[in-house]
Formats: sequence, structure tokens, C-alpha cells
Amino acid sequence: MIKVPDIIIAVDGWSSTGKSTFAKFVAKRFGFLYLDSGAMYRGVTLLAMEKGLISPEGIDEDGLRKELEAGYDLHFERPDDGATQLFSGSRNIEKEIRTMEVSSYVSPISAVAFVRSWVDERLHAFSANGRVVMDGRDIGTTVFPDAELKIFMTASADVRAKRRYDELILKGTPATMEEVVANLKERDYIDSHRATSPLRRADDAFELDNSEMTLHEELVWIQGLIQGKFGILD
Ligand code: C5P
Repeated sequence: MIKVPDIIIAVDGWSSTGKSTFAKFVAKRFGFLYLDSGAMYRGVTLLAMEKGLISPEGIDEDGLRKELEAGYDLHFERPDDGATQLFSGSRNIEKEIRTMEVSSYVSPISAVAFVRSWVDERLHAFSANGRVVMDGRDIGTTVFPDAELKIFMTASADVRAKRRYDELILKGTPATMEEVVANLKERDYIDSHRATSPLRRADDAFELDNSEMTLHEELVWIQGLIQGKFGILD
């Protein structure tokens, strides 16, 4: 294993391109901290749902702002096995934030500008000690525009839908393939068309299309990239 310098690695891309699997694996192999920015948006969405701030009329933005300003304690904890988990106070909400219901509301919630700045502030605080791999939609463009290494992930629509479906079924979360495809399309559209920090590839990001790649091949790819970019020999 190469010695990786103290850098921030930003991993962005479309929904279900395997960003978190890749980012988690890379973090583990390099001894980095893995931070899932999407989990934060999902955590805010869960709060909005539980406080009754989402209705057919839309999002009660004033109500949500008040809840966040009142001090919503959303943070990551890392148990001994190393997988970062999202907590609301002392409650582990890692499973609840992955339901289809949360997935269906998360993109409109994350398009709200004050939600984005609230999340960004926390992502910066969690990354204060460096050596971080963070995945999301705007990490290389907005959260860490100076990240030393930026990856933009893509994969074919079929591969993405199948991955997401398998992941939900494995976790025992009910879903149909039609729902998964519709949700991916809708999130991609909202994420790339919103006014604040839309999803786009940073000019200096390296693109990784992993439709036909194994996780091991992805690791070899990023190691080669790091060696080339930072002049590291084996
Ligand atoms: O990564 P994940 O699919 O769990 O993210 C859930 C949603 O959170 C995305 O569809 C997007 O709407 C939002 N998100 C975002 N910016 C990020 C990470 C996630 O807007 N940096």
C-alpha cells in the first residue's frame, strides 16, 4: 500500500454510482476518515418528516429553519469496526435515513439554501483534522473547492438502478424496481438543476465510470492516480 499524503479526497457523482462503497473502501485502505455528506441531508429530511414539516403543499421552510436553529444535534460516530454512523443526539438513525420515503423527500430538502449552509458548516467542522474522504454532490465544487484530489463518478443507468435495488432489498427495505428508477431520475434532475450548488463535475475532477469495474479495480485506479499526481513511488 502506498503512503498517501494528508489530503482531502472529494468524491462526487450521480445517485447510486457506488460513491459511498468506493469512498468507504478507499478510506479504510488509506486510514482516512470517511464522511457521507448525503447522510447529513437525509438526517435533516428525517427531522422535517418527524416534525410534520413536509406536506402535499410543500416544505415548511420557516419551521425547518427554526428547528435547525434551535440546535439539531446531527453528527457522526465511529464505532470500533470503523463504519461511520449518523446520530441524532444519542439515537442511531443510520437505518431510518435510508428508506424510500426519506429518498423521495431528500432532494427538495437539500435544494433549500439554508439547509445547505447548515450542512456545509458541519461538514467543515467534522473534517477539521484532515485525511478525509467525503462523498456527495458538491464536495469538489462547493464544500472543498480546494480538495487536493477530486473524483467524479458515473455508471450506466441500468447498473445504477440494479445496485440501488439490491442494496434496499439486502437491507430489508421494501421497494420495487420501478420506484427505484423513478427516484434515481427525479433526484438526478433536482440535484443537477437546483439554484444552489447544483451537481456538476468540477473542472479539475477525474472521472471514474465504474459500470464494468470491481471495487478492487477502482482501488488500483485511484492508487495510480495518487502516485502520478503526487509523484509517489511504490
Ligand atoms: O448520497 P445520497 O444519495 O445518500 O444523497 C441523498 C441526497 O442528498 C441526494 O440525492 C442529494 O439530493 C442530496 N445531497 C446533496 N449534496 C451532497 C450530498 C447529497 O444535495 N453533497
